[in-house]
Amino acid sequence: MVDVEKIRADFPILHQQVYNNPLVYLDNAATTQKPEVVINAVRDYYLTVNSNIHRSVHYLGQQATLAFEESRQLVREFIHARHQHEIIFTKGATESINLVAGSFGRQFVREGDEIVISAMEHHANIVPWQLMCAERGANLRIIPFHPNGELMMDAYRELLNDNTRLVAVTHVSNALGTINPVKDVIALAHGRGIPVLVDGAQAVPHMKVDVMELDCEFYCFSAHKMYGPMGVGILYGKEEWLNKLPPYQSGGEMIRNVTFEKSTFGDLPFKFEAGTPNVADILGFRATLLYLNTIGMNRIAAYEEELMKHALDRLRAIPQVRLVGDSPHRAGVISFLIEGIHPYDAGTVLDKMGFAVRTGHHCAQPVMDIYGIPGTVRISLGLYNTREELNAFTDALNRVIEMFR
Ligand code: PMP
Repeated sequence: MVDVEKIRADFPILHQQVYNNPLVYLDNAATTQKPEVVINAVRDYYLTVNSNIHRSVHYLGQQATLAFEESRQLVREFIHARHQHEIIFTKGATESINLVAGSFGRQFVREGDEIVISAMEHHANIVPWQLMCAERGANLRIIPFHPNGELMMDAYRELLNDNTRLVAVTHVSNALGTINPVKDVIALAHGRGIPVLVDGAQAVPHMKVDVMELDCEFYCFSAHKMYGPMGVGILYGKEEWLNKLPPYQSGGEMIRNVTFEKSTFGDLPFKFEAGTPNVADILGFRATLLYLNTIGMNRIAAYEEELMKHALDRLRAIPQVRLVGDSPHRAGVISFLIEGIHPYDAGTVLDKMGFAVRTGHHCAQPVMDIYGIPGTVRISLGLYNTREELNAFTDALNRVIEMFR
Protein backbone atom coordinates (compact mmCIF):
# COMPACT_ATOMS: atom_id res chain seq x y z
CA MET A 1 0.00 0.00 0.00
CA VAL A 2 1.01 3.62 -0.44
CA ASP A 3 2.57 5.26 2.63
CA VAL A 4 0.65 8.51 2.27
CA GLU A 5 2.36 10.33 5.15
CA LYS A 6 5.74 9.63 3.60
CA ILE A 7 4.44 10.86 0.25
CA ARG A 8 2.99 14.02 1.77
CA ALA A 9 6.40 14.82 3.23
CA ASP A 10 7.72 14.96 -0.36
CA PHE A 11 5.35 17.84 -1.27
CA PRO A 12 6.39 21.03 0.57
CA ILE A 13 3.43 23.10 -0.68
CA LEU A 14 0.88 20.92 1.09
CA HIS A 15 2.13 21.90 4.53
CA GLN A 16 0.65 25.34 4.84
CA GLN A 17 -2.36 27.12 6.24
CA VAL A 18 -4.77 29.12 4.12
CA TYR A 19 -7.05 31.54 5.98
CA ASN A 20 -5.76 29.93 9.21
CA ASN A 21 -6.92 26.48 8.15
CA PRO A 22 -4.75 23.60 6.98
CA LEU A 23 -4.70 23.49 3.18
CA VAL A 24 -6.64 20.58 1.70
CA TYR A 25 -5.83 20.48 -1.99
CA LEU A 26 -8.61 18.84 -4.00
CA ASP A 27 -8.03 20.47 -7.39
CA ASN A 28 -5.64 17.92 -8.84
CA ALA A 29 -7.42 17.68 -12.17
CA ALA A 30 -6.52 21.33 -12.81
CA THR A 31 -2.91 20.78 -11.81
CA THR A 32 -1.11 18.62 -9.28
CA GLN A 33 1.50 19.74 -6.77
CA LYS A 34 5.16 18.88 -7.35
CA PRO A 35 7.40 16.78 -5.13
CA GLU A 36 10.62 18.38 -3.95
CA VAL A 37 12.73 16.07 -6.16
CA VAL A 38 11.06 17.59 -9.23
CA ILE A 39 11.56 21.17 -8.06
CA ASN A 40 15.21 20.35 -7.29
CA ALA A 41 15.74 18.73 -10.68
CA VAL A 42 14.64 21.93 -12.44
CA ARG A 43 16.84 24.03 -10.16
CA ASP A 44 19.82 21.67 -10.58
CA TYR A 45 19.53 21.88 -14.32
CA TYR A 46 19.95 25.65 -14.26
CA LEU A 47 22.67 25.43 -11.61
CA THR A 48 24.78 22.79 -13.31
CA VAL A 49 24.05 21.92 -16.96
CA ASN A 50 22.00 24.68 -18.58
CA SER A 51 22.82 24.55 -22.25
CA ASN A 52 21.02 24.19 -25.54
CA ILE A 53 20.56 20.63 -26.75
CA HIS A 54 21.23 18.64 -29.92
CA ARG A 55 23.60 21.29 -31.28
CA SER A 56 26.57 21.88 -28.98
CA VAL A 57 29.85 19.98 -29.08
CA HIS A 58 30.77 21.25 -25.63
CA TYR A 59 30.47 19.35 -22.35
CA LEU A 60 27.39 21.09 -20.97
CA GLY A 61 25.55 20.77 -24.26
CA GLN A 62 26.29 17.06 -24.37
CA GLN A 63 25.20 16.53 -20.77
CA ALA A 64 21.94 18.42 -21.33
CA THR A 65 21.25 16.46 -24.54
CA LEU A 66 21.90 13.13 -22.84
CA ALA A 67 19.58 13.96 -19.95
CA PHE A 68 16.92 15.27 -22.32
CA GLU A 69 16.94 12.06 -24.37
CA GLU A 70 16.89 10.04 -21.16
CA SER A 71 13.63 11.82 -20.29
CA ARG A 72 12.21 10.71 -23.60
CA GLN A 73 13.32 7.16 -22.89
CA LEU A 74 11.61 7.24 -19.49
CA VAL A 75 8.38 8.53 -21.04
CA ARG A 76 8.54 5.69 -23.56
CA GLU A 77 8.87 3.16 -20.78
CA PHE A 78 6.20 4.85 -18.66
CA ILE A 79 3.48 4.51 -21.31
CA HIS A 80 4.99 1.43 -22.90
CA ALA A 81 5.55 2.82 -26.40
CA ARG A 82 7.49 0.71 -28.87
CA HIS A 83 10.03 3.35 -29.93
CA GLN A 84 11.67 6.32 -28.27
CA HIS A 85 11.12 8.42 -31.41
CA GLU A 86 7.37 7.95 -31.02
CA ILE A 87 7.51 10.35 -28.04
CA ILE A 88 7.20 14.03 -29.02
CA PHE A 89 7.68 16.77 -26.43
CA THR A 90 5.15 19.61 -26.61
CA LYS A 91 4.09 22.23 -24.09
CA GLY A 92 0.97 20.39 -22.96
CA ALA A 93 -1.90 18.11 -23.91
CA THR A 94 -3.52 21.07 -25.66
CA GLU A 95 -0.54 21.54 -27.96
CA SER A 96 -0.31 17.79 -28.58
CA ILE A 97 -3.93 17.74 -29.79
CA ASN A 98 -3.42 20.89 -31.87
CA LEU A 99 -0.40 19.27 -33.48
CA VAL A 100 -2.39 16.25 -34.62
CA ALA A 101 -5.48 18.25 -35.60
CA GLY A 102 -3.36 20.65 -37.68
CA SER A 103 -1.07 18.14 -39.35
CA PHE A 104 -3.61 15.36 -39.80
CA GLY A 105 -6.19 17.83 -41.10
CA ARG A 106 -3.86 19.24 -43.75
CA GLN A 107 -2.80 15.81 -44.93
CA PHE A 108 -5.92 13.68 -44.71
CA VAL A 109 -9.13 15.70 -44.29
CA ARG A 110 -11.18 16.83 -47.29
CA GLU A 111 -14.60 18.38 -47.81
CA GLY A 112 -17.39 16.17 -46.52
CA ASP A 113 -15.10 14.11 -44.29
CA GLU A 114 -15.98 13.54 -40.64
CA ILE A 115 -14.14 13.66 -37.34
CA VAL A 116 -15.77 11.90 -34.38
CA ILE A 117 -15.34 13.16 -30.83
CA SER A 118 -17.44 12.58 -27.71
CA ALA A 119 -19.84 14.91 -25.92
CA MET A 120 -17.68 14.79 -22.80
CA GLU A 121 -14.48 16.22 -24.23
CA HIS A 122 -12.46 19.00 -22.62
CA HIS A 123 -12.45 22.11 -24.83
CA ALA A 124 -8.87 21.15 -25.75
CA ASN A 125 -10.24 18.12 -27.58
CA ILE A 126 -13.13 20.00 -29.21
CA VAL A 127 -11.96 23.38 -30.49
CA PRO A 128 -8.87 22.22 -32.47
CA TRP A 129 -11.06 19.74 -34.38
CA GLN A 130 -13.79 22.33 -34.85
CA LEU A 131 -11.34 24.83 -36.36
CA MET A 132 -9.73 22.22 -38.54
CA CYS A 133 -13.13 20.96 -39.76
CA ALA A 134 -14.19 24.53 -40.60
CA GLU A 135 -11.00 25.04 -42.63
CA ARG A 136 -11.28 21.75 -44.49
CA GLY A 137 -15.07 21.75 -45.02
CA ALA A 138 -15.39 18.67 -42.80
CA ASN A 139 -17.98 17.87 -40.13
CA LEU A 140 -17.63 17.14 -36.45
CA ARG A 141 -19.78 14.24 -35.21
CA ILE A 142 -20.47 13.75 -31.52
CA ILE A 143 -20.80 10.53 -29.51
CA PRO A 144 -23.53 11.15 -26.90
CA PHE A 145 -23.38 9.86 -23.33
CA HIS A 146 -25.92 8.41 -20.90
CA PRO A 147 -27.10 10.49 -17.91
CA ASN A 148 -24.72 8.53 -15.66
CA GLY A 149 -21.79 9.79 -17.76
CA GLU A 150 -21.07 6.68 -19.86
CA LEU A 151 -20.60 6.83 -23.62
CA MET A 152 -23.43 5.49 -25.77
CA MET A 153 -21.44 2.85 -27.59
CA ASP A 154 -24.28 1.87 -29.95
CA ALA A 155 -24.60 5.47 -31.09
CA TYR A 156 -20.81 5.55 -31.55
CA ARG A 157 -20.90 2.45 -33.74
CA GLU A 158 -23.53 4.11 -35.92
CA LEU A 159 -21.52 7.30 -36.28
CA LEU A 160 -18.60 5.51 -37.91
CA ASN A 161 -18.82 5.45 -41.68
CA ASP A 162 -16.72 5.67 -44.84
CA ASN A 163 -16.27 9.43 -44.37
CA THR A 164 -14.87 9.14 -40.83
CA ARG A 165 -11.22 10.15 -40.92
CA LEU A 166 -10.35 10.09 -37.21
CA VAL A 167 -11.84 9.49 -33.76
CA ALA A 168 -10.65 11.65 -30.83
CA VAL A 169 -11.87 10.71 -27.39
CA THR A 170 -10.92 11.31 -23.79
CA HIS A 171 -9.64 8.41 -21.71
CA VAL A 172 -11.01 9.91 -18.46
CA SER A 173 -13.48 12.80 -18.35
CA ASN A 174 -12.23 15.82 -16.42
CA ALA A 175 -15.82 16.92 -15.72
CA LEU A 176 -17.45 13.58 -14.82
CA GLY A 177 -14.59 11.29 -13.88
CA THR A 178 -15.80 8.53 -16.22
CA ILE A 179 -13.15 6.12 -17.44
CA ASN A 180 -14.18 5.50 -21.02
CA PRO A 181 -13.87 2.07 -22.64
CA VAL A 182 -11.16 3.41 -24.94
CA LYS A 183 -9.98 -0.06 -25.90
CA ASP A 184 -13.42 -0.79 -27.36
CA VAL A 185 -13.61 2.68 -28.93
CA ILE A 186 -10.27 2.01 -30.64
CA ALA A 187 -11.12 -1.53 -31.72
CA LEU A 188 -14.40 -0.39 -33.32
CA ALA A 189 -12.63 2.41 -35.21
CA HIS A 190 -9.89 0.03 -36.32
CA GLY A 191 -12.56 -2.30 -37.67
CA ARG A 192 -13.04 0.39 -40.33
CA GLY A 193 -9.38 1.37 -40.61
CA ILE A 194 -9.92 4.66 -38.75
CA PRO A 195 -7.10 6.04 -36.53
CA VAL A 196 -7.82 7.12 -32.95
CA LEU A 197 -6.41 9.88 -30.75
CA VAL A 198 -6.85 9.45 -27.00
CA ASP A 199 -6.73 12.45 -24.69
CA GLY A 200 -5.05 10.92 -21.66
CA ALA A 201 -4.61 14.12 -19.61
CA GLN A 202 -6.81 12.83 -16.78
CA ALA A 203 -5.87 9.16 -17.10
CA VAL A 204 -2.09 9.03 -16.91
CA PRO A 205 -1.94 10.48 -13.35
CA HIS A 206 -4.25 7.78 -12.00
CA MET A 207 -3.49 4.48 -13.72
CA LYS A 208 -0.95 2.49 -15.66
CA VAL A 209 -1.33 3.34 -19.34
CA ASP A 210 -0.01 1.01 -22.02
CA VAL A 211 -0.28 2.56 -25.47
CA MET A 212 0.72 -0.63 -27.25
CA GLU A 213 -2.02 -2.55 -25.50
CA LEU A 214 -4.57 0.18 -26.24
CA ASP A 215 -3.27 0.22 -29.83
CA CYS A 216 -4.24 3.90 -30.30
CA GLU A 217 -2.53 5.91 -33.02
CA PHE A 218 -2.05 8.99 -30.80
CA TYR A 219 -2.06 9.56 -27.03
CA CYS A 220 -1.75 13.02 -25.44
CA PHE A 221 -1.08 14.21 -21.90
CA SER A 222 0.42 16.98 -19.73
CA ALA A 223 3.23 16.65 -17.20
CA HIS A 224 1.73 19.20 -14.81
CA LYS A 225 -1.32 17.05 -14.11
CA MET A 226 0.89 14.14 -13.00
CA TYR A 227 3.21 15.83 -10.46
CA GLY A 228 5.53 17.17 -13.15
CA PRO A 229 6.36 20.75 -14.16
CA MET A 230 4.10 23.01 -16.17
CA GLY A 231 4.97 23.65 -19.80
CA VAL A 232 5.65 20.03 -20.76
CA GLY A 233 3.32 17.83 -22.76
CA ILE A 234 3.62 14.55 -24.57
CA LEU A 235 2.34 13.41 -27.88
CA TYR A 236 2.74 9.70 -28.42
CA GLY A 237 2.17 8.67 -32.02
CA LYS A 238 2.67 5.40 -33.81
CA GLU A 239 5.80 5.71 -35.95
CA GLU A 240 3.86 4.87 -39.10
CA TRP A 241 1.40 7.73 -38.46
CA LEU A 242 3.91 10.31 -37.31
CA ASN A 243 5.87 9.64 -40.48
CA LYS A 244 2.75 10.29 -42.57
CA LEU A 245 2.03 13.67 -40.98
CA PRO A 246 3.56 16.95 -42.19
CA PRO A 247 5.43 19.14 -39.66
CA TYR A 248 3.34 21.19 -37.26
CA GLN A 249 5.67 24.11 -36.56
CA SER A 250 8.88 24.80 -38.43
CA GLY A 251 12.22 26.41 -37.75
CA GLY A 252 15.42 25.19 -36.13
CA GLU A 253 15.91 21.66 -34.77
CA MET A 254 13.32 20.10 -37.06
CA ILE A 255 15.16 20.35 -40.38
CA ARG A 256 17.69 18.20 -42.21
CA ASN A 257 18.72 20.70 -44.85
CA VAL A 258 17.66 24.26 -45.63
CA THR A 259 18.18 26.31 -48.79
CA PHE A 260 16.15 29.27 -50.00
CA GLU A 261 14.62 27.01 -52.62
CA LYS A 262 13.61 24.13 -50.37
CA SER A 263 13.94 22.64 -46.91
CA THR A 264 13.89 19.00 -45.92
CA PHE A 265 12.85 17.79 -42.52
CA GLY A 266 14.54 15.79 -39.81
CA ASP A 267 13.61 12.32 -38.69
CA LEU A 268 11.26 11.55 -35.82
CA PRO A 269 10.94 12.88 -33.20
CA PHE A 270 12.75 16.06 -34.26
CA LYS A 271 10.44 16.74 -37.20
CA PHE A 272 7.81 17.77 -34.64
CA GLU A 273 10.08 19.60 -32.19
CA ALA A 274 10.86 22.94 -33.84
CA GLY A 275 12.86 25.43 -31.78
CA THR A 276 14.43 25.15 -28.35
CA PRO A 277 12.33 22.91 -26.11
CA ASN A 278 11.59 23.42 -22.42
CA VAL A 279 14.70 21.48 -21.41
CA ALA A 280 14.65 22.36 -17.70
CA ASP A 281 11.08 21.24 -17.17
CA ILE A 282 11.50 18.17 -19.34
CA LEU A 283 14.35 17.18 -17.01
CA GLY A 284 12.01 17.96 -14.11
CA PHE A 285 9.56 15.57 -15.71
CA ARG A 286 12.27 12.92 -15.80
CA ALA A 287 12.51 13.29 -12.00
CA THR A 288 8.70 12.99 -11.81
CA LEU A 289 8.67 9.73 -13.72
CA LEU A 290 11.47 8.30 -11.57
CA TYR A 291 9.48 9.35 -8.50
CA LEU A 292 6.25 7.74 -9.76
CA ASN A 293 8.14 4.60 -10.76
CA THR A 294 9.47 4.16 -7.23
CA ILE A 295 5.91 4.24 -5.87
CA GLY A 296 4.39 2.29 -8.78
CA MET A 297 1.35 3.31 -10.82
CA ASN A 298 -0.58 0.18 -9.87
CA ARG A 299 -0.17 1.01 -6.20
CA ILE A 300 -1.20 4.61 -6.83
CA ALA A 301 -4.29 3.40 -8.72
CA ALA A 302 -5.26 1.01 -5.90
CA TYR A 303 -4.79 3.70 -3.25
CA GLU A 304 -6.80 6.27 -5.18
CA GLU A 305 -9.57 3.78 -5.86
CA GLU A 306 -10.02 3.30 -2.10
CA LEU A 307 -9.94 7.05 -1.63
CA MET A 308 -12.51 7.54 -4.37
CA LYS A 309 -14.85 4.94 -2.84
CA HIS A 310 -14.55 6.64 0.52
CA ALA A 311 -15.27 10.08 -0.94
CA LEU A 312 -18.30 8.77 -2.83
CA ASP A 313 -19.68 7.03 0.27
CA ARG A 314 -19.33 10.23 2.30
CA LEU A 315 -20.88 12.41 -0.40
CA ARG A 316 -23.77 10.03 -1.04
CA ALA A 317 -24.59 10.18 2.67
CA ILE A 318 -25.38 13.92 2.34
CA PRO A 319 -29.00 14.18 1.12
CA GLN A 320 -28.49 17.62 -0.49
CA VAL A 321 -25.63 16.39 -2.71
CA ARG A 322 -26.40 15.25 -6.26
CA LEU A 323 -23.57 13.61 -8.16
CA VAL A 324 -23.18 14.74 -11.76
CA GLY A 325 -21.91 11.69 -13.60
CA ASP A 326 -22.13 8.45 -11.69
CA SER A 327 -20.35 5.82 -13.71
CA PRO A 328 -18.96 2.91 -11.69
CA HIS A 329 -15.85 3.22 -13.87
CA ARG A 330 -14.26 6.41 -12.67
CA ALA A 331 -10.97 7.93 -11.69
CA GLY A 332 -9.76 11.12 -10.08
CA VAL A 333 -12.79 13.34 -10.38
CA ILE A 334 -16.12 13.75 -8.57
CA SER A 335 -18.52 16.45 -9.78
CA PHE A 336 -21.62 17.34 -7.80
CA LEU A 337 -24.31 19.90 -7.10
CA ILE A 338 -25.61 20.98 -3.72
CA GLU A 339 -29.33 21.58 -3.50
CA GLY A 340 -30.10 25.29 -3.21
CA ILE A 341 -26.47 26.47 -3.32
CA HIS A 342 -24.73 27.83 -6.41
CA PRO A 343 -21.45 25.94 -7.02
CA TYR A 344 -19.51 29.21 -6.99
CA ASP A 345 -20.90 30.19 -3.56
CA ALA A 346 -20.07 26.76 -2.14
CA GLY A 347 -16.54 26.94 -3.61
CA THR A 348 -15.95 30.39 -2.14
CA VAL A 349 -16.97 29.37 1.37
CA LEU A 350 -15.04 26.09 1.16
CA ASP A 351 -11.95 28.04 0.11
CA LYS A 352 -12.16 30.14 3.28
CA MET A 353 -12.22 26.86 5.21
CA GLY A 354 -8.98 25.74 3.53
CA PHE A 355 -10.41 23.46 0.82
CA ALA A 356 -9.19 24.05 -2.72
CA VAL A 357 -11.97 22.77 -4.99
CA ARG A 358 -12.95 23.78 -8.49
CA THR A 359 -16.32 25.24 -9.45
CA GLY A 360 -17.69 26.02 -12.89
CA HIS A 361 -17.83 24.25 -16.23
CA HIS A 362 -14.31 22.76 -16.00
CA CYS A 363 -13.58 23.60 -19.66
CA ALA A 364 -16.33 21.21 -20.69
CA GLN A 365 -19.23 23.56 -21.40
CA PRO A 366 -21.07 21.07 -23.65
CA VAL A 367 -21.22 18.62 -20.70
CA MET A 368 -22.89 21.28 -18.56
CA ASP A 369 -25.30 22.14 -21.39
CA ILE A 370 -26.32 18.49 -21.69
CA TYR A 371 -27.21 18.40 -17.99
CA GLY A 372 -28.77 21.89 -18.24
CA ILE A 373 -26.61 23.26 -15.42
CA PRO A 374 -24.17 26.18 -15.31
CA GLY A 375 -21.45 24.16 -13.60
CA THR A 376 -20.61 21.86 -10.73
CA VAL A 377 -18.42 21.67 -7.67
CA ARG A 378 -15.56 19.34 -8.51
CA ILE A 379 -13.14 17.61 -6.22
CA SER A 380 -10.26 15.80 -7.83
CA LEU A 381 -7.91 13.46 -6.03
CA GLY A 382 -4.17 12.95 -6.03
CA LEU A 383 -1.85 10.39 -4.49
CA TYR A 384 -1.21 12.65 -1.46
CA ASN A 385 -4.85 13.06 -0.45
CA THR A 386 -6.06 11.18 2.63
CA ARG A 387 -9.27 9.76 4.06
CA GLU A 388 -8.95 12.30 6.88
CA GLU A 389 -8.94 15.15 4.37
CA LEU A 390 -12.05 13.76 2.73
CA ASN A 391 -13.75 13.40 6.11
CA ALA A 392 -12.88 17.01 6.90
CA PHE A 393 -14.15 18.03 3.48
CA THR A 394 -17.55 16.36 3.82
CA ASP A 395 -17.88 17.73 7.37
CA ALA A 396 -17.17 21.20 5.97
CA LEU A 397 -19.71 20.62 3.21
CA ASN A 398 -22.34 19.84 5.83
CA ARG A 399 -21.45 23.10 7.60
CA VAL A 400 -21.80 25.02 4.30
CA ILE A 401 -25.23 23.45 3.76
CA GLU A 402 -26.25 24.52 7.29
CA MET A 403 -24.96 28.03 6.63
CA PHE A 404 -27.09 28.46 3.48
CA ARG A 405 -30.17 26.88 4.99
N1 PMP B 1 -7.76 17.24 -21.75
C1 PMP B 1 -8.29 17.06 -20.53
C2 PMP B 1 -9.20 15.90 -20.30
C3 PMP B 1 -7.98 17.95 -19.50
O1 PMP B 1 -8.51 17.77 -18.29
C4 PMP B 1 -7.11 19.04 -19.77
C5 PMP B 1 -6.75 20.05 -18.70
N2 PMP B 1 -7.76 20.39 -17.82
C6 PMP B 1 -6.59 19.15 -21.05
C7 PMP B 1 -6.93 18.25 -22.01
C8 PMP B 1 -5.65 20.27 -21.41
O2 PMP B 1 -4.47 20.16 -20.71
P1 PMP B 1 -3.41 21.35 -20.72
O3 PMP B 1 -4.17 22.57 -20.26
O4 PMP B 1 -2.38 20.92 -19.73
O5 PMP B 1 -2.90 21.48 -22.09
